[in-house]
Amino acid sequence: MTMSNQNSDDAKLNSIRELIEGILPLDQLATLQREMKTGDRVQIVLAIEQDRVPWSDRILVPLQENLYVVERDDGARVVKCFCGHEFGDYRLNWKEEALVFERHPQDGIVFQPNKGADPVWQLLREFYCPNCATQLDVEPVPVGYPFVFNFLPDLEF
Ligand SMILES: [Zn+2]
Repeated sequence: MTMSNQNSDDAKLNSIRELIEGILPLDQLATLQREMKTGDRVQIVLAIEQDRVPWSDRILVPLQENLYVVERDDGARVVKCFCGHEFGDYRLNWKEEALVFERHPQDGIVFQPNKGADPVWQLLREFYCPNCATQLDVEPVPVGYPFVFNFLPDLEF
């Protein structure tokens, strides 16, 4: 590997790290999104994410911001928060184990009265980690709608 290749690889790695951390400038973001992805992109992202978290369980896939599917030493595959809190088996909806706040869609805080959805039809369901209180997700759903299962990764390997 030449010195310029090493510098190019380091720059790419830094760009992807800044993308994950949400600090990549917009012009570079567009460039990164549009470029051809090399076959090692998944491994690069996993290595960056593994380096960022304060625990050592192996990340199988980042599920969404602050949530990961990890494989523990005992072989269990669970959803885990950045803080280390575990939500249980990845095949079950992690939201069932989260703190939930159902926000009135015209609460005057997030949405002004008469500017949000009709509360007879819709509510805003907010999900928080019970350990670190990070807001993990928000669903605008019809009243009475079950928790949305966002994503079930295919990890049967
Ligand atoms: Zn947490």
